[in-house]
Amino acid sequence: MNVLVTGGAGYIGSHAVKALIEAGHRVTVVDNLDRGHKRAVHEKATLEPVDLRQTGELTTVLQRDAIECVMHFAALAYVGESVDHPLRYYDNNATGSLSLLRAMHAAGVRRMVFSSTCATYGIPEQMPIVETMPQQPINPYGWSKLFVERMLADVAAADPGFGFTALRYFNVAGCAADGTIGEDHDPETHLIPVMLEAALGKRDVITIFGEDYPTPDGTCIRDYIHVEDLVEAHILAMNALHDGDARFYNLGIGRGYSVREMIEAAKAVTGVDFKVEIGPRRPGDPPELYANADRIRQDLGFTPRYTDIRHIIETAWNWFKAHPKGYEKE
Ligand code: UDP
Repeated sequence: MNVLVTGGAGYIGSHAVKALIEAGHRVTVVDNLDRGHKRAVHEKATLEPVDLRQTGELTTVLQRDAIECVMHFAALAYVGESVDHPLRYYDNNATGSLSLLRAMHAAGVRRMVFSSTCATYGIPEQMPIVETMPQQPINPYGWSKLFVERMLADVAAADPGFGFTALRYFNVAGCAADGTIGEDHDPETHLIPVMLEAALGKRDVITIFGEDYPTPDGTCIRDYIHVEDLVEAHILAMNALHDGDARFYNLGIGRGYSVREMIEAAKAVTGVDFKVEIGPRRPGDPPELYANADRIRQDLGFTPRYTDIRHIIETAWNWFKAHPKGYEKE
């Protein structure tokens, strides 16, 4: 298939591009390279440094490359930043997606797999999270993604030939097992990379954001899914799309690990006893988030290959050891 990947120079998008090309698809990447890395883009993909808000340019690319399906990853994705700069998030994530949908409409492209998030649920009343639970985001990032889910549902309702799947990610982690691409964020705030930076000696200490949560060891629990499993789910979703589809799936492994368990695993994988301190809670962190992932397993036959957190961390560790300064700074 001819697939357009937005955000294909980013962490998750670049892993999707690699998997799509390895599965025999033709890939065009649209990325404004604001936070993405040129070097993360597979050499067999065509890279267009276009911003999603450039509707005319997008339409031209969609038509020129006879795109049949769009995988839409491009977005800003820091919860804290979204609270400080809400308009930046609504502009990039919501307006950008609106522009993309308009370009798709103009070019007659009627398939999309969309990167949504468990942040659209806000603070759920029950665990695990099922897709039918109320969506009540607690930050602009979550709202910006929920707006796009809504746009997609309305577009699908108005056009019986349109079909989409929105995948609500839990915590995406790890790097390509073959070590070719990885994770490089600036600033880095996610737990696994932060721990690995400490193991490499790039940080003196890591801080646990609160150990007074109502969880067994007092630290927050999250559901970590390996990035290669996650992109595999996108390909299954793309292949299963039909006219009129409006599908929503949680995408996690269906079990949670606490921050303390994550630290223990990272120390075991790296063999480094890095320093850990306890800090205050980080605003906006729900105590527990983990998926009920039955729907995607039943509908698409999706089964994650990585179920042991140590294996997930190992793939990230291999990348961080080989690229301690990331992509551009080597
Ligand atoms: N966390 C932490 N210290 C850090 C980074 C993260 O204790 O330096 C915790 C955070 O509070 C959350 C979990 O680790 O409970 C995962 O955080 P991350 O930022 O990786 O992902 P999020 O769940 O916010 O999307």
